Amino acid sequence: MIGTLIRCIECNEVINMTEWDYSPHYAWYEGEIKEQDSNDRQDFLQRHESHKTEELIPLTPPISDKPYAEPLKISYFEATNGKRRFLIKRWRSKIDDPYTYESIDGCIALTNGKVRAQTEAIKKQMKAENNSAISEEKLNCFVKAIQKEVENLDPDTLAVSAEGETPLISYYQLGSDCVDRILTRCQDSFDRHELKLLRDFVIEHNEYDDVMTLVAKKEFTIKKEAQKDEIPRAVRPAQHISRSNP
Ligand SMILES: [Zn+2]
Repeated sequence: MIGTLIRCIECNEVINMTEWDYSPHYAWYEGEIKEQDSNDRQDFLQRHESHKTEELIPLTPPISDKPYAEPLKISYFEATNGKRRFLIKRWRSKIDDPYTYESIDGCIALTNGKVRAQTEAIKKQMKAENNSAISEEKLNCFVKAIQKEVENLDPDTLAVSAEGETPLISYYQLGSDCVDRILTRCQDSFDRHELKLLRDFVIEHNEYDDVMTLVAKKEFTIKKEAQKDEIPRAVRPAQHISRSNP
């Protein structure tokens, strides 16, 4: 987030001052695009002219359950004045509006979701590459061996290989010990040639967000610090705000 975050100590209002604050706005007027002078800081500066202000330094990246590319989402981040933390809500109602910032009560509580294998994508990719070399029955056996491995994996112990479309989704590479255990589970159902094919497939597709990488979704709630109550986000009543399917 580029800019300088300023908070009015007396009113608890926040603005992010950026180099774009004086950029002209453009609007359609009688069939032509007209340039209009603008000053996004003016209102704030006038309202808090004789008030004490302070700079806040962001401590966390903005977090949201919406994709990075979604321009109208609500995000939250934490910032500090050097003495205490503030939870800042950021949003805009129109794509060409500047962001609005508000200091709200609470803190961000993140929880790790369970990791899962991309089972449908694995089956599809395997069928596309190997046609009938691996039967449907054996393919299901392979997928079960992966799911068995994934059951007890903790995302904190895995290496992130890619970020998902929202800040809450991450992809994780399978470690070599995981790969070995998966193939060991397949030993009785596959012959040597098939096992080699499986190993090559795993290695080939275990990068970035490819089909053999695992997916985990974090969830976040805004926790009220005073009461220590967990409350759902103010924006909509859903308790679980991460997407069900990345
Ligand atoms: Zn003020």
